[in-house]
Amino acid sequence: MTATGMVDLHTHTNQSDGLLPPERLVQLAAEAGLRAIAITDHDEVGGVETAVIMGNQLGVEVISGVELSVSHQGYDIHILGYFIDFRHPRLLEFLHFFCEERLRRVHRILEKLEALGCPVPLEIVMRKAGAGSIGRPHIADALVEAGHVPFYQEAFNRFIADGKPAFVPKVRISAEQAVAIIHEAQGLACLAHPGQNLTEPIILDVIKAGVDGIEVIHPKHGHHQRELYRRLAQQFGLLETGGSDFHGGRKSEEKFGNYVIEYAKVEKMKERNEARILAMKTGTATNVTQTACLGK
Ligand code: AMP
Ligand code: ZN
Ligand code: FE
Ligand code: FE
Repeated sequence: MTATGMVDLHTHTNQSDGLLPPERLVQLAAEAGLRAIAITDHDEVGGVETAVIMGNQLGVEVISGVELSVSHQGYDIHILGYFIDFRHPRLLEFLHFFCEERLRRVHRILEKLEALGCPVPLEIVMRKAGAGSIGRPHIADALVEAGHVPFYQEAFNRFIADGKPAFVPKVRISAEQAVAIIHEAQGLACLAHPGQNLTEPIILDVIKAGVDGIEVIHPKHGHHQRELYRRLAQQFGLLETGGSDFHGGRKSEEKFGNYVIEYAKVEKMKERNEARILAMKTGTATNVTQTACLGK
């Protein structure tokens, strides 16, 4: 393992909607020569421990992560958590709640699909999802298997993308709540891929909600966007993060190993997180985490 090296801070395993098991993803990271990788499954931390064990064997540092979905003024915003305690009871309680809500949502989407003349058995979606959190990508796979659409993207385009006839929104928590959950679990909260759909005023709102960092490097960000998010990071004293958002090759354009940041940025993140945890313990933190959204 080198003292320098590159890091991918945004990956998904088959514990959420990625295709590869966590240990395989870590092997890919080792093959790509990465020094560290963060596992950031949607609403799920079930892949982290296996990845850590494999990382120890292969000399790849595995950072415990998660990706939460929040809603702000109708925008679907993703918040990444890093260095979280993946056994934290309150975090697990929240994730359990989100995953149950995801399952309820799948039922509702399937009802809509049936009404549209495209019945999909729940069993297929469950099989596609496997052990982890269930979501629209698994429904898209099931729509292909059931013969209603010829390929994955078409399922989104015709039925389940935002605003399409079988779309159902996810459970809504605020950016402040997501930041609070992540902070309570001893982690850093970072705004994911702002370039995917967010305007600058919305990004500023999320910054006000207390995120510690912003994702600068992401496949959806062009040069101009990277520069803009770097400037915002400097202006607001935020950490700069980045990664591939790799789903194991689910999306045809996906590349692994090409969207990385320097390990020095991870060191900065660790320093910031330790300082934040210390400030929380001594009661000097500005973001005290008391928000509860369970049951709302
Ligand atoms: P969910 O968390 O169940 O809402 O699923 C979100 C995931 O679905 C995202 O991470 C993407 O991988 C995928 N997704 C969402 N919208 C689209 C779209 N319009 N086209 C293709 N994939 C999409
Ligand atoms: Zn995903
Ligand atoms: Fe995301
Ligand atoms: Fe992601």
